[in-house]
Amino acid sequence: MNFLHTLTGSFAQPAAENPTVAMIEAAYRHHRMEWRYVNCEVPPEKLADAVRGARAMGWAGFNCSLPHKVTVIEHLDHLAPSAEIIGAVNTVVVRDGLLIGENTDGQGFIEALRGVGEIEGQRVLLFGAGGAARAVAVELALAGAAHITVVNRGRLHGQELADLVTAKTSATGEYLHWHPAMPIPADTGIVVNATSIGLYPHVDDQLDIDWTTLRPGMVVADAIPNPPRTHLIRSAEAAGCTVLDGLGMLVNQGAVAIRLWSGVDVDRGVMRRELERVLGVAE
Ligand code: NDP
Repeated sequence: MNFLHTLTGSFAQPAAENPTVAMIEAAYRHHRMEWRYVNCEVPPEKLADAVRGARAMGWAGFNCSLPHKVTVIEHLDHLAPSAEIIGAVNTVVVRDGLLIGENTDGQGFIEALRGVGEIEGQRVLLFGAGGAARAVAVELALAGAAHITVVNRGRLHGQELADLVTAKTSATGEYLHWHPAMPIPADTGIVVNATSIGLYPHVDDQLDIDWTTLRPGMVVADAIPNPPRTHLIRSAEAAGCTVLDGLGMLVNQGAVAIRLWSGVDVDRGVMRRELERVLGVAE
């Protein structure tokens, strides 16, 4: 008998519409882990107290979502190398009493990508330059991508991300301003949408690209988790590309977090099915 469960959870504001608790607890149940995941609404001025509370109660770790991904860093003892370069943390791991900041958004993406194609030496076209794009760009570069072209509407963030890739990784980064009907260069191996275009409820919104330039052989990934079958995913499939949806990325970042906390490599299928159920999305 054990009435003392290991605690994990999430600190964010707002928290009520975040489905992470459902998929993580489904994995804990499936693997008969005596672990719990508590979804907590934490305003910015209470973040320090929340982190102290997690430390005091012996939590194994926690996720941080908006608006804490950057400000949590000042409360941590160490950062993992990729989280340091990205400059944001979505997962905190408590190890030997020390709080270590990780960023599993990009790591989850890379795990999913490795399942469908090569990263080493590839040229990447990345749409977006926000938090998700930063995580994806840095992890792709650290995983051996050769060149990352950042396409963004806002020049400042786009250029900043391209410069970060060049300065902090062995890949080269380049910024291209997003112009209408943007073509995908023929030598692109991996195309990623890390903008919020197509996210529910704006499900009919489309990237402004030349759709005829999507070619078989390209891997096309969308970070949008809901709906999983975005316009980009459907068009890329029709063009003969290999596709990866954002629900897979969401599941993988959660699975990577559980592995960091507990050492258990959980069943992604269980997590994905639970997410599909609670989000009401179908394949
Ligand atoms: P941010 O707000 O940090 O960045 C949004 C990005 O989208 C910016 O680059 C912005 O460009 C661009 N953008 C938004 N609207 C438009 C538009 N109409 N036209 C062109 N560009 C646009 O958000 P995040 O990076 O945190 O999240 C981006 C997406 O990734 C979200 O949909 C989120 O759901 C998803 N995500 C998925 C995860 C997963 O596990 N599947 C994990 C994290 C995020 P600009 O700089 O010009 O404003």
